[in-house]
Amino acid sequence: MGGALVDTYGREIMDLRVSVTDRCNLRCHYCMPAEGLAWAPKEQELEFAEIERLVSLFADLGVRSVRLTGGEPLVRKNLPELVERIAAIDAIEDISLTTNGILLEQLIEPLVQAGLTRVNVSLDALTPERYREITRRNGLQKVIAGLAALERYPQLGPIKVNVVAVRGMSDLEILEFAELARRRPYVVRFLEFMPLDADEQWSDDVLLTGAEIRRVVESMHDLVPLAAESAATSSRFAFADNAGEIGFVSPVSEPFCGTCDRARLTADGQLRTCLFALGETDLRGPMREGVTNGELEELIRGAIWRKPAGHKIGEDSFTQPARWMSQIGG
Ligand code: SAM
Ligand code: SF4
Repeated sequence: MGGALVDTYGREIMDLRVSVTDRCNLRCHYCMPAEGLAWAPKEQELEFAEIERLVSLFADLGVRSVRLTGGEPLVRKNLPELVERIAAIDAIEDISLTTNGILLEQLIEPLVQAGLTRVNVSLDALTPERYREITRRNGLQKVIAGLAALERYPQLGPIKVNVVAVRGMSDLEILEFAELARRRPYVVRFLEFMPLDADEQWSDDVLLTGAEIRRVVESMHDLVPLAAESAATSSRFAFADNAGEIGFVSPVSEPFCGTCDRARLTADGQLRTCLFALGETDLRGPMREGVTNGELEELIRGAIWRKPAGHKIGEDSFTQPARWMSQIGG
């Protein structure tokens, strides 16, 4: 193997997001249309052995952390088996999961046994009515139970709750989420809405920035900035009275493309080097045609080399990608 995976701008790829399905049991308005999407045919979905082969290759090329996502990753059958296969790859230090939490309570035990190290739960409302309005499904109690189940596994590290902020679409419960961060051992992070929604509702007008949300929190609480982690996407703050932590992930108003160390593998085996890339590199086809690992490495290196400098949201030349968030893997 010929050294680390770097792009034209000198960014080194350390983090691989692996989407395990494009299917989902919710229909969040900022992500999917009410009627759902045409799911990719099952035969296009990478098998666990194919994902394992690719993760292993990426690990040889310097990737150290893997995040499983989707669609909803927990609807993929036998997910703990995949976690176990990835955990067996020596160089992988961290296997995390981004989930809507609906199936978390029942699956967390086998996932932890298999080697899962961290979990982010997406939750945008704390009342059943708003939850239903945003996700177009019931299920708040299941998510709350899933979060409580996570608390039984201190080895999972900080439990993160991700809240997508969309101006006007439903009353964002900013102060209620701040309270959640203070009362429970959860790091609550507000994420800016990005133009990756299937309904194409995104516009500057509905962008609610991290800075605006922070001002609302600071109207009630003093916040103290915390040091950023390397390649960090969030700005982190502690409550001044030490009652917990909150964060702001602001890819639109404060882009972090310059330090991005991520690549993404879609459930159907396409390598994407940016959420907003207009092109992708097929790895499934070549793998099924029998390429060697050396040939796969060439494909991967070429794709990473062409990783775009940044997302261009807000620029005249910005074009929304043909795939939406749930089909890419957020
Ligand atoms: N289904 C899982 C979940 O919701 O956590 C994993 C996949 S989801 C696509 C990953 C993350 O992307 C979630 O935190 C979700 O809230 C976020 N997301 C989806 N659409 C988004 C958008 N248009 N802008 C910003 N974040 C979005
Ligand atoms: Fe499903 Fe996650 Fe998209 Fe919501 S954000 S529709 S839970 S994939």
